[in-house]
Parts: sequence; C-alpha cells; structure tokens
Amino acid sequence: MKSVLVLGDQLNRDISSLRDITPSDTRIVFVVATSLMTRRQWHRQRLHLVLSAMRRFANQLEQEGFSVDWRIATTMSNGIAEHRTAFAPDHIVAMSPMNRSGLKVLSVSGVSLVENNQFLCDAETFTSWAASRKSMKMEDFYRWQRTRLDVLMDGIEPAGGTWNYDHENREPPPKDGRSWPEPEYAALDDIDTEISALIDDHAPLTTGAPWNGLWPTTSAAARERLERVIREVLPKFGPHEDAMLTSNWHLAHTALSSSLNIGLIRPHEVVEAAEAAYRQGNIPIASVEGFIRQIIGWREYVWGLYWLWGDEYRNMNSLEANAPLPPAFRDPAATKMRCVQTAVQGIEDRAYAHHIQRLMVLGNLALIAGINPQETTDWMQERFIDGAEWVMAPNVIGMSLHADGGMMATKPYAAGGAYISKMSDSCKGCAYDPKKRTGPTACPFTTLYWDFLARHDERFRKNHRMAQVMAGARKLADMPEVRIRATEVRALLATGDL
Ligand code: SF4
Repeated sequence: MKSVLVLGDQLNRDISSLRDITPSDTRIVFVVATSLMTRRQWHRQRLHLVLSAMRRFANQLEQEGFSVDWRIATTMSNGIAEHRTAFAPDHIVAMSPMNRSGLKVLSVSGVSLVENNQFLCDAETFTSWAASRKSMKMEDFYRWQRTRLDVLMDGIEPAGGTWNYDHENREPPPKDGRSWPEPEYAALDDIDTEISALIDDHAPLTTGAPWNGLWPTTSAAARERLERVIREVLPKFGPHEDAMLTSNWHLAHTALSSSLNIGLIRPHEVVEAAEAAYRQGNIPIASVEGFIRQIIGWREYVWGLYWLWGDEYRNMNSLEANAPLPPAFRDPAATKMRCVQTAVQGIEDRAYAHHIQRLMVLGNLALIAGINPQETTDWMQERFIDGAEWVMAPNVIGMSLHADGGMMATKPYAAGGAYISKMSDSCKGCAYDPKKRTGPTACPFTTLYWDFLARHDERFRKNHRMAQVMAGARKLADMPEVRIRATEVRALLATGDL
C-alpha cells in the first residue's frame, strides 16, 4: 500500500495526488510540524485556519473510508520518517509543494512528487510563456490567459469589447452611508477547541485576536462563501474596489483568497461561477472583469514569477532599505496615523487587510520610509490569513517595495497623503494633514513621499514613467525642510511615536 502525504495548503479532493486513489490502495498522512508553529510569530487565526482545515479534511477522508495517519512531529522530515516506521508504505507520494523549502524537505525525505494542479497556468507553462516575450507585463499574461482558457471571451474578442475596465474601478468611497455585504461566521465546534489547545501547546508566540469562525475551513464552507459572493458581493465589487473606509473592513471584497491559497476552492470554480453570473446579467462587466483579472491574471502571474525568478529574488534589496519594521505595524496604538491604525487593527482582529490597504498604506509606508523588504515580507507572511511565500515574495519584494530594481513593476508604487485622502475617509479626524509636507502636523506619507523621490533622484530621474514627478520634486522650494522633517518622521516611526 502506498501513502499520500497531504500538505496544509493542498486541501482539496481533486489535487493530483488524491484524484485517482481509493481506500484499498492508499493510506493518507498529514504531518503537523511543530517546529513550523514555533519558529515564527504567526497570527493565531492563520495557524488556526491551516490546522483546522487540515483536521477537517483528514476527517472527511476518513469518512470516505481511508486510513488516515494524523501525525504531530517536531519537523516534517521527522513526521515522514515516523510514518515510514509505523506503516512501511511501498512509497510516499505528494503533490509538488507550493514553496521551495517544502520542495527541498520532501526531496531529501524521499517523497515522490506529482505535478501541482492548483493553478490554471503551471510553472512550466508560465516559463515557456515568459521565454517567448521580450518583456513581461501582467496585462499581456492576463490577455493570454483569457484567450487560451476562453474566459470572458466572445469568440476572439473580450466580452464587452474591452480587455480591462480598471478606469471604471477606481472610485473613492461613496458618501451615501450605504451598507455593505457582511460575510458569514461559522459556529465554533470541538475541532476548534482541539486546534486551540494544539496552538496553546506548540505556538507560544502567536499574536492577534482568537479564532472566530470568519474564514472557511472546508471546501463546502468555501463554496457556500463563493455562492454568497456571487449573489451579494461581486455585483458591488468593481467601482469601489480601491476604496478604504474606517467603518467597514469588508466593503465589496470577496474574502476568498485564504480559501484559494490553501486549496479549499480551486480557481476554475471561482472563475466559472463569476462568468456564469455575468452571462445571466447579474454582475456588471467592470466588476466581473476586475475580479477575474485578480484570479487568472495577478494571482497566476505572481505564482509563475515566484518559480521563474528563483531563490535569490526574495533577498533582493535594490533600494538599500534597511530600517527595521516599525512598532506601528505590530501595534495600532503605536501610531497616530489613522490610515495605518485602521489597517493594523484589521490585521490584529482578523489577519486581513484588503489589497489597497496592503499596497498603498502599509506597503507604501514601508517603501517611502525605507523599511527592510525581507522584514516586511516576513511580517506579511506571518500576519495575513492568506499569506504564503509564493504570494508575498513577488508582491512585497517586487510590486510593493521595488526591491527587485524594477523586474516586476516599471515604477515604484509610492504615493503621498493625497492618494489616501482621495481613496479613504481616514484623513478626517487624523492627527496629521495630508496637504502639509513640513512641520509637526504634516502627513508622514506626504513628507516621506517627497523625501523618497529626492533620496532616489539619481535612480528614477531617467525612468520615463517618473520623469514628470521627479522634475516636480527637483523644483520644490521647501525640499531642505522636507528632508529635515523626513529624518524626524523616520526616527519617530522607529520608536512608535509617530
Ligand atoms: Fe494617513 Fe496622512 Fe491621511 Fe493621516 S493624514 S490618515 S497619516 S494619509
């Protein structure tokens, strides 16, 4: 009899290692590696999500008749060795892991790997696509995916006549006090109690609010969320997808990423459901296109880049940003910046901040303040419910912090307080003024933004996408005062007094 090892981010009955097996020929093994739990300061909800979803999937397979070895071991390789000793399987098979360290561990442990089928574009296909290009752009990849997968297409033309409706999806938050869809919460049960005890025993460093049932832990629950998203959320998703509200964390975001990233639900299910609702006239084209771009465009592009760019990519720091992670990223009370407070409080409460809070508040602040990219990547990977190395390395190192010198994005996503003021309601009631760049009440984003441009003038002055803004920075009469205030701001940020 062979064994199939199921990893914590591969929790789906249709993964390639589980697809064709029966209880008569296969035993299943899950390994909970306690060293992984203790090594980092995980958000408690992130650990709970993965462990309880593993436990529930193990139970599901047992109910199907499989013999399941649920094994708690110090490390993954020890768990595999202990399983071998206990059951003497003919061989152990696993689906290829989602990250390089997993790949190394399974390879040295003698586990046979089968292809990973959790993405619509596998790493090899992505590499061939990349090799065929003079330069790589997400938009080109996305259009190629749409065409080859026949998603949101009318023959050879994009549905609605346009590939990209981004320009319709950048509305600021509405001021009409409208209500937003609320996600459902699952009632806690015996498995939650068991997992909480496991975390208490093995992960003393966890942070954040306790588990409250917000994130789906089974494929059935993830599909229920998807149905609700299609019915209630996606019709409202597009126009305000970049908006931020202090009073509502969810707005019309789908909150499906954690389910996708641990395999509870698969990308084709999500895309097919969204397109079907559009074809039935239930979701506007701008909303469905923006959502599908995130799933078959961004998500798959980032997955491909993670494997294409290799091990060293994660260690890049081309802007030589070496400031430590500020206390404000770990404690909302350590800053008066209302936009940062709101985002960090959301992370504390539910291990989540939506994509614009990640890119334009937290990532932007890390970029313009010169926070170390590796510390920022680690922090996001540990604190976000959907954090995974393959997601965070390209998104943080490349997209957000420009630490790859422009391999991923041709210009840095740097912005001052004016952007946040336009796209959120945070600035009203903030201790700082987004229009000011000098003085004690100047918005730190505004000060640091101009300082960032001045600091990196040599690097960006020849970048044609930055030429205008760099010329503007060189003409600022008060730049000497901005630079002095920026030094004060960085010092206050480092001590948690900003
Ligand atoms: Fe954030 Fe600046 Fe606005 Fe305050 S004024 S909320 S720090 S952008």
